[in-house]
This record gives sequence, C-alpha cells and structure tokens, in this order.
Amino acid sequence: MTHPNDQQINDLCIIGGGLAGIASAIEARRLHPHWKIVLIESRSRLGGRAGSFVDPKTKNWVDNCQHVGLGCCTELIEFVNRLGSPDAFRRIPELRFLSPDGRVDSIRGSKFLPPPLHLAPSFLKIRFLNSWDKITLGLGLLKLALTPPQSLKGQTVLDWLNCNFQTPRSIRRLWEPVLVSALNDSLDKLDIAIARQVFVKSFFKSRSGFHMLVPAIPLGELFDERARTALSNLNIQILDNTKCQSIENHESFFEMQIRGKSPLFANQIIVATPWPATSDILNSLNLNSLHTLSEKISRLESSPITGIHFLLDKTVCPHSEIALLDTTIQWVFDHTSADRRQPGCILPANGQSLHIVISASHQLAHKNRNEILDEIRAELDSAFPEMQSATILSAWIVTEHAATFSPSPESDSLRPTSVTPLPRLYLAGDWTQTGWPATMEGAIRSGLNAARSLI
Ligand SMILES: Cc1cc2nc3c(=O)[nH]c(=O)nc-3n(C[C@H](O)[C@H](O)[C@H](O)COP(=O)(O)OP(=O)(O)OC[C@H]3O[C@@H](n4cnc5c(N)ncnc54)[C@H](O)[C@@H]3O)c2cc1C
Repeated sequence: MTHPNDQQINDLCIIGGGLAGIASAIEARRLHPHWKIVLIESRSRLGGRAGSFVDPKTKNWVDNCQHVGLGCCTELIEFVNRLGSPDAFRRIPELRFLSPDGRVDSIRGSKFLPPPLHLAPSFLKIRFLNSWDKITLGLGLLKLALTPPQSLKGQTVLDWLNCNFQTPRSIRRLWEPVLVSALNDSLDKLDIAIARQVFVKSFFKSRSGFHMLVPAIPLGELFDERARTALSNLNIQILDNTKCQSIENHESFFEMQIRGKSPLFANQIIVATPWPATSDILNSLNLNSLHTLSEKISRLESSPITGIHFLLDKTVCPHSEIALLDTTIQWVFDHTSADRRQPGCILPANGQSLHIVISASHQLAHKNRNEILDEIRAELDSAFPEMQSATILSAWIVTEHAATFSPSPESDSLRPTSVTPLPRLYLAGDWTQTGWPATMEGAIRSGLNAARSLI
C-alpha cells in the first residue's frame, strides 16, 4: 500500500468521463463547493459514447453516431444549459415519416387539444396506416397507457402487441420505428413496461414530450470541449488518458491503481463506467457483496447501433431529419450545418452530409463494409431520387457493438441503484436504475442520483 498524505487524498474521484460522470461532477460541485473533485477518463476525450472522433484527414470531429433527445428529456436540457450551451440542440416539433411510395407524413401537436389528444388530428391524417391499423393502434395505446406497469412485467413488446390485436403494418411502421429507435433492441426482446414509459413520457404526458432535440454542433464540441471548460470553471480536475485498473479499500480512503501512472486516492468514489468495466472494478475490491453485485450486472446484455455518415457532392435529402419506413435505414439526419462549422469541412457549396442511424443493428453484424454501403446506398437511391446521381466523397460506418444494454424484461432487476454495499462507493451510468432506458437523459440522471447519494 502507498501511504498518501492528506493533500493527496481527493474528497471525490469520479471514474469515467461520459455524460454520467460529467453530470455527477457538476452536481457534486453544486452540493459541495469546497471539495477537491477529480474526474478521470481512460480516453483522450470526454463524452464517452455520446462523443466524436477526429477524422485523420480533415482533423474535424465526426460524431460516433447521430444522437437525438426528446422534449421529455428535462435533465438533458438542464445539463446542456449548465454546460453553457443552451443553443446546442435544435428542437423539431414534428416526427416525419417517408413511405416507400415517396409520400411524407408527419405527426405534430395540435395547438387546440390537450395532451394526449393533441396528436390525434395528425395521427388520423397519416397515410402509411389504414383505418383499421389506426383504430387498433389507438385502442392499443389507450390500453397500454391505462395498464399499471407492474401488471406488464415479464412480457416482451412483441408478445403484448400480438395479444392486443396490433396489425403487422402498424407494428412495422409505427411501433417498431418508435420503440427500436428509443430503446435499441428488437420488439421480441424489449420489455413492454419500459416501452410503455416511452409512450407515456413522450406522447401522452406533455404537449412537447415528443419533440426531437437534434444536436446543432458536433458531439465532441459539446461534450468534450465545452464540458471541459465548464468543469474547469467549476474547479474540477480532469485527468484524461487515465484508466483505473483496480481499487483498494483502506480504512478511510480508496486507492485507485492507474495504468502506467501513480495511484490516486479519494475518500469517496463514483464509478461511472459502462457495466462490463464496472463489473471488473467491483471485483477488484475483493468483497463478497461486491462480487455478487458484479455478477448481477454482468448479466445485462448489450445491443448494437450502427451510424453511417455520407459526405455527398450534392444535396439529395430535402428533410432535416426523417424516418424511412420498410427499410434497413431507420432515420436520416442532415448533418450539413454542424459539419460546416468546422474549418476542415470538405463539403462543396451544394454538398450534403447525411447521418443514417440503424438501432439494434443485429442484422448488419455479418456484413462487411461494402455490403453495408451497397445496401444503404440502394435504399437512399430509392428514397431520394437525387441520390442516384450523387457522388459519395467520404463514408464512415461506425458500429458500436455494445451501444446500450438491452432493455429486456429481465434487465430491470439487474440494474443497481447508485448506492453499493460498500459505504463511500457509488455507481452511475445509463445502465443503473434511473427509470429511463440507456439514453443521454438516463446517463445524466444516473450522475445526479450518484452525486445526491454522496455522504
Ligand atoms: C451509437 C450510439 C447511438 C446512440 N444514440 C443515442 C441517442 O440518439 N439518444 C440518446 O439519448 N442516447 C443515445 N445513445 C446512448 C448514449 O450515448 C448513452 O446512453 C450515454 O452516452 C451513456 O453515458 P455514460 O456516461 O453512462 O457512459 P459512457 O458514455 O460509456 O461513459 C463512460 C466513460 O467511462 C470511460 N471508462 C471506461 N472504463 C474506464 C476506466 N477503467 N477508467 C477510466 N475511465 C473509463 C469510458 O471511456 C467512457 O468515456 C447512443 C449510444 C450509442 C453508442
């Protein structure tokens, strides 16, 4: 054991510089203005999964994958305000859908009706569902909203939809696009109780809960550059390229072993890493109660997301964002203005940057890059005729194999709270108990929970 002097012992160390870690650091500072707080991150940048990497050619940020929030993500909105970036997200007050026949329909709120009826007029007008689809869907949503979540436990979304007379078309064109994008797994794996929350929070409870919040700047600029400035202004020390390998518990402080560096010391620790890394860190403490916790969280399963970015020599998609129906592609986002902010942007004057999102992309796992590009290009060609004569200047495919945990019916019982059996050791991360799926909102809430649990 190394014997630190008092000066070397931090009041709080947060392991992991994703949104959970950053949010917990900011909240801990608010609650404890005089503490010595250090945030350590194994990579060279903050932001974790909601981050960007640097394109070696242009030196510009490229987002891992398009990230989107919803109007009901109140802590995300507050968080970006705290980062001094209230302008970081554009608010889109409608959901647009492109049918295979080229028709565009949108769901938007009526000014005159209270929620949840505010969406009814535009829902009745959509043309990609027929009247029977809409009647069964409306009744299904009503039943889901009125069913207490406890009595839904243990069922998958697909089981529930099949028992509640949902048509194959409404499953494919509405339930699936909404829930797979929001929860990131296929309907046969998703927990219907979590799916219910998505509908209640975003569509039923408030007028603007379903609005889309789309980043107007690269994620790296927001959650790395601007977050660093905000944390430094709060006198929170950031140590990047600093990977915690293990923790030892001494009587009144913890000692963290850091790869290739000297150990760090802290009175309290928030472990804000993804669950596999957390499981290893908990095991390193060598306590039975933590082994049990570690074993439990290691049973969470993961689900992939694929983001595909195209830089095109011409503008092909006339929509700032749109969901494609009956295709592998789920969402297309126009990322041009965020890209043009950057000095190395190679887009020509009329060019366009498109970000394509495929959540729960299990079906792409066995395809190589060219096969994926061909499939996606063919779908874009038929969705946007201008694409047929466009040249792809650059293409990135980023698949995060463990993008999020899979919110299966079992997952809820595997998600721990922020408090562990070991006093002064806390957990944060989108996979902990937050009442939210694995999202930016969930990660931020987990960080707030952990900071508010500190002694
Ligand atoms: C491709 C993709 C698309 C997504 N799309 C959306 C979306 O549209 N909307 C949405 O709301 N959410 C989306 N998400 C989910 C969202 O990104 C996550 O829920 C959120 O960023 C998780 O934050 P976190 O802090 O819990 O974890 P992370 O972001 O994983 O942060 C954990 C950090 O800990 C660091 N770390 C790990 N081990 C160690 C160690 N031993 N020592 C020090 N540091 C360590 C990691 O490097 C990382 O920076 C998406 C995720 C992915 C991957």
